[in-house]
Amino acid sequence: MLVPQIAPPFPLRWGFSTKHDDPKDLPPVRLSQVHGCGIVEAAEAVVEGDGLWTVRAGVPIGVRVADCVPILLAGMTPEGPWISALHAGWRGAVAGILRLGVARFVELGGDSSELVWALGPAIQRCHFEVGPEVIEAAAQDPAWHEFLVSEGPRGRPHLDLHGFLGAQAMDLGLDPAKDGSLPLCTVCQEHLLWSYRRGDHSERQWGWIELP
Ligand SMILES: [Zn+2]
Repeated sequence: MLVPQIAPPFPLRWGFSTKHDDPKDLPPVRLSQVHGCGIVEAAEAVVEGDGLWTVRAGVPIGVRVADCVPILLAGMTPEGPWISALHAGWRGAVAGILRLGVARFVELGGDSSELVWALGPAIQRCHFEVGPEVIEAAAQDPAWHEFLVSEGPRGRPHLDLHGFLGAQAMDLGLDPAKDGSLPLCTVCQEHLLWSYRRGDHSERQWGWIELP
C-alpha cells in the first residue's frame, strides 16, 4: 500500500493499493465506474458513478483504476470530517469530476483551501499518448495550459493528466501545500502497479479512504 505524501487533516485510513496488497484489505465495491463525473454519497448498494463521498466513520470508499487517476480528498466541514474518492481518466477530468467533488465539499460548508488532496499512481506523461481529439477537449478547460501537452517519440501528443488535474485543483483554490500526490507511472512501474495500456485488462488497484 502506498500512502499520500501528506499528513491527514484528521485521523484517516487511506492509500493506493498495489499488486502486492491482499484484496481482503480493500474496500467493498460500491461503484460501477463509467468514465463520467457522477459523484454519490456512499451507500451499501452498488451505483453507477465515478466518485463517492461520506461523512460516516467505518465506511471505506474507493475507486478502482489501472491508468486513470485515483483522487482522494479530505477536509473538515462545520458538521465534521468529510472524505471523497474520485476516478478521473481524461474524460472525467474534462467533464470536471474534481470540480464537482470540491463543489460538494463547499456545499456542505467546507473551504476548498482547507482540503487535503492526493492524486494517486496513474499513467503519466511519459506513456500517455493520446489522439488530437483528447487535447482538443482538454484545451477547452479554463485551467488548461499548453505545457500540459508535449510531443511523444512517435510524433503524437502526450498528455500530462496529473498536471491537468493539478491545474484544475489550483483553479479551485486547493492549497499546493496540502497536496499529497504520488506521481508514479502505472506503465513504467510494472512490478508494482496494474496498467490497462500495458495489457492488464482485468486487474485494478484502488485509491481508497476511510474515517476510522
Ligand atoms: Zn511511464
